[in-house]
Amino acid sequence: MKADPDTLTRFLFEHAAIRGELVHLDATWQAVLEHHDYPPVLRQAMGELMAAAALLAATLKLKGSLVLQIQGKGPITLLVVECTGDLTMRATAKWAGALPEGGLAELIGEGHFAITLDTKDGKQPYQGIVPLEGSSVAEILENYMTRSEQLETHLILTADDRQASGLLLQKLPQQAGQDEDGWTRIGYLADTLKPSELLELPARDILRRLFHQEDLRLFEPQPVSFSCNCSRGNVVNMMRMLGRAEVDSVIAEQGQLEAHCEFCNQRYVFDAVDVEQVFSAEIAAPGSQTRH
Ligand SMILES: [Zn+2]
Repeated sequence: MKADPDTLTRFLFEHAAIRGELVHLDATWQAVLEHHDYPPVLRQAMGELMAAAALLAATLKLKGSLVLQIQGKGPITLLVVECTGDLTMRATAKWAGALPEGGLAELIGEGHFAITLDTKDGKQPYQGIVPLEGSSVAEILENYMTRSEQLETHLILTADDRQASGLLLQKLPQQAGQDEDGWTRIGYLADTLKPSELLELPARDILRRLFHQEDLRLFEPQPVSFSCNCSRGNVVNMMRMLGRAEVDSVIAEQGQLEAHCEFCNQRYVFDAVDVEQVFSAEIAAPGSQTRH
């Protein structure tokens, strides 16, 4: 028995108004770890936030992307995970120096948690922000869901240096004839799952172990993968927003302009000749992104 690599599996309880998902990240999570050397406590939290982002993105069936962000005033200042509707993901974090001993809540300190839904169709992205409450990523998210009056959600998340996994249960609007005690009973059953089981077992085995007495419908697993959508074109757009004078002053001072992607470590370098091209192309084709 081995866990299903980089997949998300949705399921439904036939007689209770509850849906669920299991996610298992391997290469997707390792790609994030490859790009930065994160301290252990941060690694754990990021893996859990990755699993949570995939689970929530899949419940939303969104086009565009979902961004989960934890911002704090402690030694850990930022954790950010982005997941698209196609379940491609990227993540990064910011922290100051060697992290002292302590739990996640202490290391983040006072802060807030934000969810941004960007449908990428030109509409204003939706953003929900709440103060940080909870000592784990799962608690922070469950509190967010309660505070923002979303569907009642139960999350179990875990991560180690190689994999990150999560289980989500969500209470749907109750219909006549459905099992009313289902939510409590199924929640208790889910809580008997050990982190090692969540990390190591295939989705089918986890569901059989937890819910063998329940009537479950399983959907086809969906693949999850790492992908960063940064590009030289994005940097060009940023340079145009800064304006010629600003960019020229950077070139004069440093000989080149360098942009660095925090998510995938890609570096984009522009010298004086590149800058000349960027701004002369702008005159030829203003707003190169516009469609005709
Ligand atoms: Zn990138």
